[in-house]
Amino acid sequence: MSGARRPGRNFLFVPGPTNVPARILRAMHVPMEDHRSSDFPKLTLPLYEDMKKVFQTKDGQVVIFPSSGTGAWEASLTNTRSPGDKLLAPRFGQFSHLWIDLARRHGLEVIVQEEEWGTGASPERIEEALRADKTHEIKGVMVVHNETATGVTSDIAAVRRAIDAAGHPALLYVDGVSSIASIDFRFDEWGVDLAITGSQKGMMLPAGLGIVCVSQKALAQMADAKCTKAYFDFADHFRTNPGGYFPYTPSLPLLYGLRESLAILFEEGLENVFARHRHLANGTRAAVEAWGLTLCAKEPKWYSDTVSAIMVPEGFNGADVIDRAYRRYDLALGAGLSQMAGKLFRIGHLGDLNELMLLGALAGAEMSMRDVGIEVVPGSGVAAAQEHFREGVGEQRLAA
Ligand code: PLP
Repeated sequence: MSGARRPGRNFLFVPGPTNVPARILRAMHVPMEDHRSSDFPKLTLPLYEDMKKVFQTKDGQVVIFPSSGTGAWEASLTNTRSPGDKLLAPRFGQFSHLWIDLARRHGLEVIVQEEEWGTGASPERIEEALRADKTHEIKGVMVVHNETATGVTSDIAAVRRAIDAAGHPALLYVDGVSSIASIDFRFDEWGVDLAITGSQKGMMLPAGLGIVCVSQKALAQMADAKCTKAYFDFADHFRTNPGGYFPYTPSLPLLYGLRESLAILFEEGLENVFARHRHLANGTRAAVEAWGLTLCAKEPKWYSDTVSAIMVPEGFNGADVIDRAYRRYDLALGAGLSQMAGKLFRIGHLGDLNELMLLGALAGAEMSMRDVGIEVVPGSGVAAAQEHFREGVGEQRLAA
């Protein structure tokens, strides 16, 4: 192919940002409005109520920041903690690392539990550390639910059981940036105190909204929290949100987009959304197995339903596969980050996605691997995924 124009669609298969459905694109295409008008709350107030359904909470309070997920990370910590506070955090990938780094930059003392990359949070080690903390100096446990860098999902319900078994009052901070609205996430049932997400993954929007859900227990700690905050101060939101307003100018197109995203999620039904992600992930895993490759995730219990991190064989560079896929086939795959740089490539299978779209990405990954010399059998991964996709969720939909 020659010329600057790239006909057809770009295949966006990084694990966020994800494809924005045409319905959402149209919903965001609005003239600007007065965000202090008497009509504005009609748009905003239902967003908070509906986001609670996505977090699966009754009592949690939702805050929506014009920011990315990183802003929501910062907000969760600075609104509830003081410099010098101790936090416990397992580290098993680039995003758990970055959250720990952010906490430290705010003067928080993070006790890091190193876990092998490809595994996740260990409830046993968390319980042990909390039991040893007799004076309750540890104020919170920070866990990344779905480590996007390695394609690993941790068991948050088990982390909650560990905290309870230790009889420890630490708050549970959970990063759900690449899980919420794609993988089952139960704020109330799992006793999460602060849950964080962003708009550009399961919510199918552009980046630009950082969303936090806060438990009543966490809200009660706000008054004592001395970390510096200004833009990300929950209190400013709590003053203005009940009326449906923001403390500063919100991104109107993103709010209209969020309205449509929530409508789409509820139309499909959250249960069905989770089942679809599981189905697509299983198809991807069937392809990886047929290629004779392995995932970065060490065992099935860690497998992520939103992103598969695929190890390239010794002597090859994952970055070459990604570059080839992008330049030759207009397919965007995710890179290996930090200690995984060059060792893997990632396929994001989350958001507004169906089987045939994913088959296109698997075909492109297969061709790109062969182009750089990785000898996978032509068609093997695609065929394995096809056979998987012929069964399952789609068939159930037809039968319904
Ligand atoms: N946490 C996880 C698990 C992520 O995957 C990401 C981004 O990919 C972030 C946090 C940071 O979010 P953002 O890039 O929206 O600031």
